[in-house]
Amino acid sequence: MKLLAIILLSLNAYSNPHPNESLTPKDKLAGKKVDVISKIGISTPNKVGLPVIRVNLVKEHGLFVLKKSVIEYSATKNFYQKSSRLDSLGSFKASLTSSSNPKEKYYGSIGTGYNFASHAQGLSFRFPLIKGKSVLTIFGENSDSGKLEQVFSQTIDSNILKEFIQNHGTNVSILKQSKANPPILLNLYAEGYGDNESDRKRFYRGASSVIAGLKSFPSFDQFEIRAVFYPSNLELGSPKNLRTKIVRDSFLGLYYPYWSFEMGRWYNVVYPTDYTKLMDGFAQLPYDYAMVLIKSRGYWGMGNYNFFTAIPDANRSFTYLLHHEFGHFFGLQEEYSSGGTELLFGKNTVEPWSQNLTFQGSARSFTKWASLLKKGTPIPTTGRAFQLGVFRGGYAGVSKKSHIPAKNCTMGSGRAFCEVCAKAISRKIGIDQGK
Ligand SMILES: [Zn+2]
Repeated sequence: MKLLAIILLSLNAYSNPHPNESLTPKDKLAGKKVDVISKIGISTPNKVGLPVIRVNLVKEHGLFVLKKSVIEYSATKNFYQKSSRLDSLGSFKASLTSSSNPKEKYYGSIGTGYNFASHAQGLSFRFPLIKGKSVLTIFGENSDSGKLEQVFSQTIDSNILKEFIQNHGTNVSILKQSKANPPILLNLYAEGYGDNESDRKRFYRGASSVIAGLKSFPSFDQFEIRAVFYPSNLELGSPKNLRTKIVRDSFLGLYYPYWSFEMGRWYNVVYPTDYTKLMDGFAQLPYDYAMVLIKSRGYWGMGNYNFFTAIPDANRSFTYLLHHEFGHFFGLQEEYSSGGTELLFGKNTVEPWSQNLTFQGSARSFTKWASLLKKGTPIPTTGRAFQLGVFRGGYAGVSKKSHIPAKNCTMGSGRAFCEVCAKAISRKIGIDQGK
């Protein structure tokens, strides 16, 4: 009976990494000692970052409701610069506009499927602090038209917001320095590790594996990488349907979204069980990118544009999961062609916003990565004569209109990113640095 259930769920699979684990590239990085780093600095977090207004929304009866808003010191100079410009990518776009000076306006964008907000039951954004009254507005992708429409608007007054206070006893280590000034701060958060020496060691070993695994990631030298350790009372463990939705008693409260059976392969991804818990955890110190390392040998992965990435610390497809999920964080879509995905665009979307996916697979209308194609590349592209082209497939098999740049990219099941994806990641990191 259990086997039948698993087969049925697999047929209707919706998830992030490639649906067939056996096809993904393996490596020996996970769980091994990687001779990398010495900890080059330890700091105790306090108000070291720039102030932001953080808003947490939950979905109740189909509508977004503001659950919590706080002032926290979690922003970087990069974040302030990035927030002053409208982001062209994403499926939920938010803005915060000063009520007294409309020119004081900041933007935020998160990319997920339009279903994500209902599966995860919330959303969260950070904005540079606007003093006094300001208006928060959020637009979300319509599930039919794919067009953005307003889903929320409310006035916020910074004078009555509480200041967020960091946890006591959070341990922060700087593991790798950056060549950029200011650096892109990539924080690795520990999730599901107990308050004991063996788990601490395992987390830092995992963090070393991340650094070793990211050496081949585009713009790696721009990242300053920090490890943030705070113990959890519960491990992630294997996926279980806990029946009633409960807030997970771990540092960040992440768990398999067992409450969303309509997602199909829910056991191959982790979701927040409580937005406040997740965002409070991230806010222990300033960050540009939040990556969560979870004590787990399972095959799963989480990555959403501009939001966060989470991977297991000891799966044999470690580097694949790391790159694939971090690729999602920079806006990339699935390049595999079956299994379904939670990163869904509206049904009638004309052209998806992801950089590596087009619905315009004919020579006349195709422009997205046209400048990277060799002269004479047929569109649509077939056969193996061209490494880069406009190949039918991708988007996890959701739409027949979908075309992708390559046949063997990490956003499918390949060992390395295709040129379109590698360039898209570097471009996005540049944008996040205000370039
Ligand atoms: Zn690609």
